[in-house]
Amino acid sequence: MIVDLHSHSRASDGLLSPVDVVRRAAANGVDMLALTDHDETGGLPQARTAAERSDVRFIDGVEISTEWEGLQVHVVGLDFDTRDAALNAGLESIRSGRVERARHMSAAMEASGIPGCFAGAMRYAGNPNLISRSHFARYLVEIGVRRDVHSVFDSFLVPGKPGYVTHRWATLGEAVGWILGAGGLAVLAHPGRYKLPRAEMRDLLDELKGVGGQAIEVVSGNHSPEHFAEFSRLAREYGFLASCGSDFHGPEESHVDIGANAPLPDGLTPVWTAFH
Ligand code: AMP
Ligand code: MN
Ligand code: MN
Ligand code: MN
Repeated sequence: MIVDLHSHSRASDGLLSPVDVVRRAAANGVDMLALTDHDETGGLPQARTAAERSDVRFIDGVEISTEWEGLQVHVVGLDFDTRDAALNAGLESIRSGRVERARHMSAAMEASGIPGCFAGAMRYAGNPNLISRSHFARYLVEIGVRRDVHSVFDSFLVPGKPGYVTHRWATLGEAVGWILGAGGLAVLAHPGRYKLPRAEMRDLLDELKGVGGQAIEVVSGNHSPEHFAEFSRLAREYGFLASCGSDFHGPEESHVDIGANAPLPDGLTPVWTAFH
């Protein structure tokens, strides 16, 4: 069974429409798919309708931006009630600061000699309310500042670099609380990406467990085989369900295609065993 429970569309910073994400998943033989746009559920109805015309089982998803100990930590919500009022209000509260943050980022880039980034990035944003660093990166590649988005991030868009602006996201407890309140499962996204030393990773997992989070991504498009082994061990130790996904953003941008993520290693309890 091919399962991909982490993907993005133009409803946030992906390159394909929600319908095209589902079509691509179907073409790649995906059996179960979640669309997990950043802080946004607007693409889910279209994606679900497209999935119903295919053999793909569709799971409602979202990837919530949180701040934990000064780090941007992402929490994926799966299989929740998309009409839940508190969840929708929470997501709206996170989205509302993005345009202002983008203006600050643009001013910071201008101060380092690159004007026009706000308008440039906006041209790439399928959903203006979800303007993100990815859209800035695509514009900076377009104007030839760097060859690819990864290099743009490394030079401009990560902490300590000129275009990085801190932002107030949700707390871990808020994000997990909204997901649980809507009847869903809360999954720590791509834990390997935070590059945390062992003790701090345990602090993060302790806090996730403490606020009611049920799962972690063992397999992610952002993870190495060493990460698969490390997070398998931690999932078993903590009693977390295990999730897997590509974190697909687009054909040219993602190193792992939709559904091309590795399967979950043996000996774990898959998160989908707890779906409705
Ligand atoms: P934002 O939510 O605006 O802070 O943007 C975060 C998004 O930027 C992530 O979801 C990724 O899609 C992308 N991103 C973050 N770090 C990198 C990186 N080093 N290389 C490429 N894309 C990245
Ligand atoms: Mn993204
Ligand atoms: Mn993420
Ligand atoms: Mn993602």
